[in-house]
Amino acid sequence: MAAVANLHLPTQEVRVTSCLYLYGSEANDELGKLIIEEINRMYNEPQGTVRIQDRDMRVVFNISYALINTNEALRMSSFNDSYLNNFIRIEAENHITRSFMGFGLGDNAGHWLTSDNLGTSTTAAHEFGHSLGLDHPANPDFRGSSAPPPIMAARGSLVDPQYQWNPLAKAGEYGGTMNPIHRRVSQEEIALIVEGLTFDETETYYIGYLSNNLFDRKGTVV
Ligand SMILES: [Zn+2]
Repeated sequence: MAAVANLHLPTQEVRVTSCLYLYGSEANDELGKLIIEEINRMYNEPQGTVRIQDRDMRVVFNISYALINTNEALRMSSFNDSYLNNFIRIEAENHITRSFMGFGLGDNAGHWLTSDNLGTSTTAAHEFGHSLGLDHPANPDFRGSSAPPPIMAARGSLVDPQYQWNPLAKAGEYGGTMNPIHRRVSQEEIALIVEGLTFDETETYYIGYLSNNLFDRKGTVV
């Protein structure tokens, strides 16, 4: 995802803004609302802050969506130069059987699957994190930490029993890995998103990059 980060001094906020342009056979308003509700709620929940010019600024996420048809997607993406705009194809299935963002972290293009329960499973919020440049944590073992697993924890991560699919399963065995529904955005992840933004010489930063790729139904680049 590309996004724009703006420093708003009167309210001491860093505002992260972007729009998800949803297209594809399964894109609809009901799903769009669920997706952005999950993303905005999860990223604003930790009330993340970042220290800028010796003041703590709240990092506030304001992500919106719009529905477009495939023709509009082709036209818009062919001349898009705005970091606000992301193109996400929504389908029931694709050839790698999971939702993904484009090539490399920060891409403004993705292919997401309704079978991942977008908007109710934390998958949309996880993919959104990739699009802002976040990778999976290097160590996939979160046992013993008092907090829920972070939003960027990958499927298969090891977690304390209450965060497993089956709390009674042995760690790593069937049912003994993370149930993604327990993931939460952490302050550390918010800090990573805005890392390096000093706002010394500008009030606006552009996060991510613009491949402006579109995908076909199965997830191949058009
Ligand atoms: Zn991932």
